[in-house]
Amino acid sequence: MKRLILAGLLICCVLAAGPALAEPMQVFVTIVPQKYFVDKIGGDLVEVSVMVPPGASPHHYEPRPKQMVALSKARIYFGIGVEFEQVWLKRLASTNDKMKIVHTEAGIRKIPMQAHDHDKAGDRKKGTDHDAGHDSDHGTLDPHVWTSPVRVQVIARNIRDGLVGADPAHKAEYDQRYYRFMKELEALDAELRQTFQGRQGLRFMVFHPAWGYLAHDYGLEQVPVEIEGKEPKPSQLQALIERARAEGIRVVFVQPQISSKSAATIAKAIGGEVVPADPLAADWGRNLMEQAARFKAALK
Ligand code: ZN
Repeated sequence: MKRLILAGLLICCVLAAGPALAEPMQVFVTIVPQKYFVDKIGGDLVEVSVMVPPGASPHHYEPRPKQMVALSKARIYFGIGVEFEQVWLKRLASTNDKMKIVHTEAGIRKIPMQAHDHDKAGDRKKGTDHDAGHDSDHGTLDPHVWTSPVRVQVIARNIRDGLVGADPAHKAEYDQRYYRFMKELEALDAELRQTFQGRQGLRFMVFHPAWGYLAHDYGLEQVPVEIEGKEPKPSQLQALIERARAEGIRVVFVQPQISSKSAATIAKAIGGEVVPADPLAADWGRNLMEQAARFKAALK
């Protein structure tokens, strides 16, 4: 009780102190790793709310009423281009006309969403030129741009520009933190290059293909289990098991936010194991390095 009264007094004093102790700017991001990025550049000048909470999938999420209320106080919404935003961003923007929308993925050259390997035997039997038309069949671009530090450099610049635009009085502070974060990203990139040196062209199998940019930027191949966002059909599952056997793959990576029955089926069939790989972890930098080590150990 005493503590409560003290806290109350403190709050009164802080409020009475006036504009010298300005409140941090309220901003929103879509996914947890973006909070890491905005915190790096915004520091204590910003307070970041995450729209898609840990444990939920950013591909299919509906904002809670409480979040809609919080949005009315936000100065910036930092998007990253996942499906959730295609459905919701306009509606979120219409709730608060003072809120700026910053597309942090702007300027990133996106790669096509990793297409699955077809049941090759089946396709070939039909004698079609299916493989030639493959990319146009699956024309979606990969939204998971935050899994490579090279791409995150672009994201960081967009965040810096967004913060400076909304709060030009603190430009020097945002700039300073931005350059420091860019150095960190360069160091991470160098470390990843070292980690995967001499392993170009090797593969890892993952249920939900969220690691396309990491794979692309460091010369690896991500073999997805999921087919167009769904569990594979029995024939496709069989083909994946045969491929894993032929290539000596022993690990199937799974994302905690996404249920993945077939990953366990494959692992069992190949006498391998299912290993977690979380692309949405809060401690983005450390998670990326730990994940890279796990991928490295599983590469075939
Ligand atoms: Zn995803």
